Amino acid sequence: MALIVKKFGGSSVANAERVNNVARIVTDEYKKGNNVVVVVSAQGDTTDDLIAKAKEINPTASKREMDMLLSAGEQISISLLAMAIERMGYPVVSLLGWQAGFQTDSNYTVARIKRIESERLKAELARRNIVVVAGFQGINKYDDVTTLGRGGSDTSAVAIAASLKADLCQIYTDVDGVYTADPRKVKNAVKIDEITYDEMLELASLGAQVLNSRSVEMAKKYNVELEVLSSLESKPGTIVKETVKMEKMLVRGAACDKNVSRISVVGLTDHPGTAFKLFNALGQAKINVDIILQSVGRDGTKDITFTVSQDQCADAIAAVEKLKDSLKYSSVAHDETVAKVSIVGTGMQTHPGVAAKMFEALYDANINIHMISTSEIKISVLIDVEKADRAVEAVHDAFVR
Ligand code: ASP
Ligand code: MG
Repeated sequence: MALIVKKFGGSSVANAERVNNVARIVTDEYKKGNNVVVVVSAQGDTTDDLIAKAKEINPTASKREMDMLLSAGEQISISLLAMAIERMGYPVVSLLGWQAGFQTDSNYTVARIKRIESERLKAELARRNIVVVAGFQGINKYDDVTTLGRGGSDTSAVAIAASLKADLCQIYTDVDGVYTADPRKVKNAVKIDEITYDEMLELASLGAQVLNSRSVEMAKKYNVELEVLSSLESKPGTIVKETVKMEKMLVRGAACDKNVSRISVVGLTDHPGTAFKLFNALGQAKINVDIILQSVGRDGTKDITFTVSQDQCADAIAAVEKLKDSLKYSSVAHDETVAKVSIVGTGMQTHPGVAAKMFEALYDANINIHMISTSEIKISVLIDVEKADRAVEAVHDAFVR
C-alpha cells in the first residue's frame, strides 16, 4: 500500500463540477488500496476576493486579522470536497491546518512551517479515511491562525509528504506539466517528462508559474518526489526529482522575466571598497541584486550597473542616493524597459559552447545583449523588453527543437 499526497489548486476546485471531478480522482486512487491525503487551495479567486473585501473595510488591517480572513477560503474547499467524497460513499475527514498539526512561526501572512505534529493525520489514515487538509495555513505558538504566503498550498502538500514519508506528492493544476518554455508564447515548447529540483527552482524563479519556489526548495531538502499534472486530463505530468536522465538535451528550458529594472551608478571613484559600500548598503536595505556589471576604469572613475526586480527599484535608488556623500558618484539612472532571458539545464556545465550557441541565436535574431550572467545551470542575458518574446523563442528553438 502506497501513501500518496495530492494537491489541487484553486482552479481545480473552482465550482461544483470541478470539486466532483477532484473527488473522482481522489477516490480512484483510494480504490487502488492506497492511502490518500488531499491538500486543497481556496476555490478560484476566493483569496483575491477576500483581500478585496478586507481593503474595503480597513486598508491597513493587521496581518493577524488578514490571516484569520484568508484562511477561511481553504476551509470552504476542504468541507465541500469532503462532502463530495462522502456522497460517493467513501470514508473521509476534512482537517484545518491546525488540526493537521501545522505549527508555524508567527510571521503572519508569510509564516514558515516549523514542524508538523502528524499524530492526527496518521490516526485518520490508520482508520482508512481519505484525509482532506486545508493548504496555506497553520497555527503559531499563541494558537493563532497563520498563512504561508500566496501560493502556499504547494508547500503544505510537500510538507505533509515529507513528514509522512509519502511515496509521491502530486501537484494537480490546470496545465499538464512543466514546459520547455511558456507554451502560450513559444509554439515549439514541449512538455518535460523529468526535471531536477535545481532546474525547477531556476525555472520557477524565472517566471514559470507552475510551482511555488518554496515548495520546490522543501521537496529538494526532504527528497520528496513531485509530479505536476493536470486535474482535467488523465495523463502523466512532469516528475521533479534529484537527478534525471539527460539524453542529448543540454538545456531543459528557456524562460523570461520582465519584472526587471536596470540601475546604473555612473562616475564612481575607482578605488578599493567602492563595490563593497554600494552592495552592502543594498543588502542592508534588503534588496536582492541579480546581474552586476562593472565598467573598466577611466580617469579614476568607473560605473557599476546592476539589476533588481521592478518592485524594489525605488528602494534601491533611495539606498544609492543615501550614499551620495560617502561614495561620490556623478549620477544614478534606471531603466525599466529591459527583460532577462535565460536558458536552464544541468547538462550545460559539462558541455562547452552552450553560451556561444545562445548568443549566436540572439545574433541571428538581431537582438543586442546588455548584460550577461552565468551559473552552473543557467545563462541569463539582459535585453530590451520589446524583444523579449522573440528572444525566448530564438534561444529555445536553438536548443530544444
Ligand atoms: N489560496 C492561497 C492563494 O491563493 C493559497 C494557494 O492557492 O496556494 O494564494
Ligand atoms: Mg490560489
